[in-house]
Amino acid sequence: MKYDTKILGIGYDTIIEASELLKKGEIVAIPTETVYGLAANALNIRSVKKIFTAKGRPSDNPLIVHIYDQSQVSLLAKDVSEKAKQLMDEFWPGPLTLVLHKKKAVSDVITGGLDTVAIRMPAHPVAFSILEECQLPLAAPSANISGKPSPTSAQQVFEDLEGRIPIIVDGGSCDIGLESTVLDVSVDPPCILRPGAVTREMIAELIGEVSMDEAVLDPLKKGAVAKSPGVKHRHYAPDAEIEIVKGTDIAVSRYVNRAILKDNVDGISAVVLCCQEHAKNYPFDKIILGSVHHPESIAENLFNSLREIDKGGYKKAYVQYYETEGLNAAIMNRLLKAANHNVIDVG
Ligand code: AMP
Ligand code: MG
Repeated sequence: MKYDTKILGIGYDTIIEASELLKKGEIVAIPTETVYGLAANALNIRSVKKIFTAKGRPSDNPLIVHIYDQSQVSLLAKDVSEKAKQLMDEFWPGPLTLVLHKKKAVSDVITGGLDTVAIRMPAHPVAFSILEECQLPLAAPSANISGKPSPTSAQQVFEDLEGRIPIIVDGGSCDIGLESTVLDVSVDPPCILRPGAVTREMIAELIGEVSMDEAVLDPLKKGAVAKSPGVKHRHYAPDAEIEIVKGTDIAVSRYVNRAILKDNVDGISAVVLCCQEHAKNYPFDKIILGSVHHPESIAENLFNSLREIDKGGYKKAYVQYYETEGLNAAIMNRLLKAANHNVIDVG
């Protein structure tokens, strides 16, 4: 179906219109504190299928179900551990998704055939109001065309999904800018399947031991089954080729500047993505990611920066590898996937 996609400013009328459309089985793009989501009634399979069609999402990539009240968990999941409850109390509403054993009410279409379901309570007031108004659990992946960087503004949703969805609720730009942490609490110790703004360190402080899935920072091994099916698919990727350069600041800038000069000789337009503190090291085209001292600023800008590479017509982009403590784990996870794990170590 071809829609005349509208972007609606926030306000009471918009909340009502969005929730009426959702109740009727339509899909609606909504702002959350992480990225924009494409929402559908999680209890209506036909609506949920519309999400996969609009995004071009592979059917084995499961969706996160969004709720606004902890009491909704028991409709969707069973065998909820004490650790899971502690995590809900501490981090909900917020950017933490919990993978739990699913109940029958949750369709295989949502879980991609898995016997677990991913659940999150968003903190964004608009997402929260829509959930409360429509009184439905909402399945919502990021509101981008599958494989592209997640949208952090209504305009970016429009660029990807114009004509494919009826409305986009414009809640301004997303605070966090990276998708939620996905933590599997159906196993013990719990395992991070996707890092996000609720970091490994924050989770460990609350519940003790927590593991990190190998596929977070390394390519999935040949023949291995992905614990989070989303990681199998190409992700966050601009059309340009990205190279991640590992080494000291000086070694990295020397390598990148030489590489860009050579690219230019070869007729390839190239750009470096760098932190503002390193900008002076790069005399050629650059996209500023944020401050090396404030990873939150890099997270907030990251998907914008990835989209800017293509908008600038660049065919190649270089970015420095940063150590993976705290929020940097989430930043490097997205960059490594965007670069298809193309990493060079220059010492
Ligand atoms: P998106 O909402 O587009 O950011 O993608 C949702 C992410 O959650 C994907 O990486 C999925 O693989 C992951 N996910 C959703 N449900 C499950 C589940 N039941 N088990 C493991 N991972 C899940
Ligand atoms: Mg996504």
